[in-house]
Amino acid sequence: MRRNQYQEAREERMARIGFIGLGNMGGPMAANLAAAGHEVTGLDLSMEAVKRLEAAGGAGADSIAETVAFADVVVTMLPAGAHVREVYTGDDGILTHARPGTVLIDSSTIDVDSARVVADAAQAAGMAMVDAPVSGGVGGAQAGTLTFMVGGPEEAFAKARPYLEIMGKTIVHAGGAGNGQAAKICNNMILGISMIGVSEAFVLAEKLGLDHQKLFDIASTASGQCWSMTSYCPVPGPVPASPANRDYQPGFAAAMMLKDLKLAQDAARSVDASTPLGAEASALYSLFCNAGNEGMDFSGIIKYLRGKVADQG
Ligand code: NAD
Repeated sequence: MRRNQYQEAREERMARIGFIGLGNMGGPMAANLAAAGHEVTGLDLSMEAVKRLEAAGGAGADSIAETVAFADVVVTMLPAGAHVREVYTGDDGILTHARPGTVLIDSSTIDVDSARVVADAAQAAGMAMVDAPVSGGVGGAQAGTLTFMVGGPEEAFAKARPYLEIMGKTIVHAGGAGNGQAAKICNNMILGISMIGVSEAFVLAEKLGLDHQKLFDIASTASGQCWSMTSYCPVPGPVPASPANRDYQPGFAAAMMLKDLKLAQDAARSVDASTPLGAEASALYSLFCNAGNEGMDFSGIIKYLRGKVADQG
């Protein structure tokens, strides 16, 4: 008798989740939702990605309608703002086929404007939506330890939170619609700028005959201390786990950093914010990527600053 009550209570907590975008990030995130006992139906342009979800306990779908029509929750993890706009607000999109009251979570990293346009349309359709971009990379997606930066009304945040907690470890409500995206690009603008700053300091130290480890020992406990120095040091040695120790295999690929820096510049232009170092970081990562280094870890920019990679194409 008691066991049945537990079972019933458990079944009540199981949600039907539609998941669109089962790539490097979305695939493991959807698998974690399925592993938690939710009924996950997934859609992707790639059949291989759909098959991986099926192997992880989910079901594959052929259309947005099939993915979302009976869903309590819809999660999207797509490449860019144009994909998100189309998938939500296109003629055959989520807002046409999902039921009013469905909880919508977009975890893609996209421009703030698109996030706000889609959130407004969702609200008009009677659906609670949050933008919830992540940091933590593929490793964090697999381990269910992502950080979610969430924008949207308090009520939508409260409804989305139990599902975000399955996929992530740190969940922060950053304010209204679009503020999750704003937090993500502001943070990554700091990261891009600081990685270039730390890299320039190591390159200068090399030319001045100052040992890498000595600079690290001093700067990591002095006012030059920052994450790019102490957790992700761009030279091999001082921080054994940093990509510099494995020939700059990502990690966080330079192309992803460039994407986020460009989003930050788009946002800065749209609100007339002055971000000269953000602009310079975007230009430098652009040169670095154009020289064929998109797939290298973003800390590999130090090679470019030393002039040790091919010149820009
Ligand atoms: P990905 O390219 O591996 O996955 C995107 C998936 O979306 C692909 O499988 C693609 O087929 C699918 N897709 C595209 N359009 C679609 C459509 N109309 N319908 C259905 N499926 C569609 O990218 P990813 O690395 O998983 O990144 C996804 C998002 O997460 C991006 O916005 C990225 O910036 C962000 N992000 C990625 C990382 C990372 O380390 N990979 C870290 C943080 C944030």
